[in-house]
Amino acid sequence: MPSLHMSGQKIDRNAPCWCGSGKKYKNCHEEFDEKLRAYALKGFYVPDRSLIKTEGRSKGSGRAL
Ligand SMILES: [Zn+2]
Repeated sequence: MPSLHMSGQKIDRNAPCWCGSGKKYKNCHEEFDEKLRAYALKGFYVPDRSLIKTEGRSKGSGRAL
């Protein structure tokens, strides 16, 4: 499981996107990441990518009563 760090890491724009879509990063989430970065610079809370990526996959992890 690769772990990505927001802090200053440059993603190769021709590499497959971190979201697992199989598209090149520049054709997929590059713009998305730029927006997140802009929000973060303005002081907004930005959710971690891993939260975005695993959205809706929390089934079967136990029931809260
Ligand atoms: Zn993507």
